[in-house]
Amino acid sequence: MKHALSVTRDQDFAAWYQAVIAEADLAEESGVRGCMVIRPWGYGIWERMQRLLDDRIKATGHENCYFPLFIPLSYFEKEAEHVEGFAKEMAVVTHHRLIGDGKGGLMPDPSAKLEEPLVVRPTSEMVIGAAFARWVQSWRDLPVLINQWANVVRWEMRTRMFLRTSEFLWQEGHTAHATAQEAKDETLRMLEVYRSFAEDDLALPVVAGEKPENERFPGAVETWSIEAMMQDGKALQAGTSHFLGTNFAQAQGIKFQNAEGQLELANTTSWGVSTRMIGGVIMVHGDDDGLRVPPRIAPWQVVIVPMLRDQPEDEELVRYCKDIQSNLAKLSAFGEPVRALLDLKHGKAATKRWGWVKKGAPVIVEVGGRDMAGGQVSVIRRDRLYREDGKLDSVARPRGDVEADVVGLLEEIQAALHEQATARMKAGITPVADFAGLEAHFAEGVKFPGFAEVQWAKPTGAALERVVERLKALKLTLRNVPTDAAPVDGACVFTGEPAVERVLVARAY
Ligand code: AMP
Repeated sequence: MKHALSVTRDQDFAAWYQAVIAEADLAEESGVRGCMVIRPWGYGIWERMQRLLDDRIKATGHENCYFPLFIPLSYFEKEAEHVEGFAKEMAVVTHHRLIGDGKGGLMPDPSAKLEEPLVVRPTSEMVIGAAFARWVQSWRDLPVLINQWANVVRWEMRTRMFLRTSEFLWQEGHTAHATAQEAKDETLRMLEVYRSFAEDDLALPVVAGEKPENERFPGAVETWSIEAMMQDGKALQAGTSHFLGTNFAQAQGIKFQNAEGQLELANTTSWGVSTRMIGGVIMVHGDDDGLRVPPRIAPWQVVIVPMLRDQPEDEELVRYCKDIQSNLAKLSAFGEPVRALLDLKHGKAATKRWGWVKKGAPVIVEVGGRDMAGGQVSVIRRDRLYREDGKLDSVARPRGDVEADVVGLLEEIQAALHEQATARMKAGITPVADFAGLEAHFAEGVKFPGFAEVQWAKPTGAALERVVERLKALKLTLRNVPTDAAPVDGACVFTGEPAVERVLVARAY
């Protein structure tokens, strides 16, 4: 069967991923390595994600605010582990003026050197914590629950569009609490917000769990994540929630007077989800014809494509289509008006159809002169493009029926994408009993190893490092300890000691 993309997932998954991004007009290179231009269709998906996640963040009691892009270098010197974790990927501003270099070019003006270098934020704990120290005096000031939508910069060495970029867009939540228990509850509450956002809004099944010690956020006491499985079986860390204990409060002086009048350190948390999620949506829902966008996050859920002929008859056809569009816009799907676009751009109808297929609009409604005469339209659902005989599944149906069914259809597509991905992920998690089994499971040439679930004794320090090294030799990483894992009943695959928990092992992006 011939597909819309020049390369299939089977042939070359990495090239397929790049092809989807290009052909669906999601993003492109910018000239600065690791920084991308996010095009309207890609940004539209991000805006939908923002809206839905922002609602969830606000519904759990958080308020949005904004902090500066630049953070004084000295702020980072306060938390040793944090700065060590981020030092190798921080971009730093040292000058505030350019002058001619005498050769027709420009250079930083030596006389305009900043007294203190400014770091382009890689994350905002150090500046938001400083504000918390000002805002929090008494137990009455707690909890502080804030979030910001921002861009951050981490000078990544191996970049890939959306999944790992040097500049990325995200939200970062930051909270301060009176007790460790409250902060831990917050950490898990936001993990659950991420889990349900991924599953319900993005149709992205994930495993929620705690990251092992070696994968913790620099300076955190606990890091929790949601991990998604891509169609090549690799893991993607799709979001993280950190319990920071009093580490940052200590470094930044976030103290409060408790009800008994004693001075105590606050407990803090932070949590973030980024444009990486778009990469996850592509790699989970895309197929050999391009992207398939879950209806809840599709900028346009229904695209109406009239078969225009540049003839006077076009006028009546456009009127017919406008009428359909306005009827659809009166309907409500997932609690919001249906987003229906009438595509009046010039160009061949077939080219326009395949353009929307590649972009992944959930429902494409095509209308030709004959359809109009019969009071019909032709409907293509993006999640099931082909009939059993391999032909494009485009059915002409009475227009009224289509208008009546479209909400149900969008819900069906959302559910179908989630079901497909869930079935794939469930089938892709395999219990593995010993290290030899692990080697065999991830041996060269195994097409879809997915995740291995192993039991382990949860080593720490040097013992954990040895485990990490052994896994690294197989290009494997520890993902997380699923919160809903079955109880242990065996030995640690790494040491043979009695196991204490189950942990997922996988190749990862
Ligand atoms: P962190 O602050 O390191 O916990 O990061 C929060 C989330 O941002 C991670 O769980 C990732 O999903 C995402 N993320 C981290 N680094 C990058 C990057 N270079 N590009 C895109 N997303 C990222």
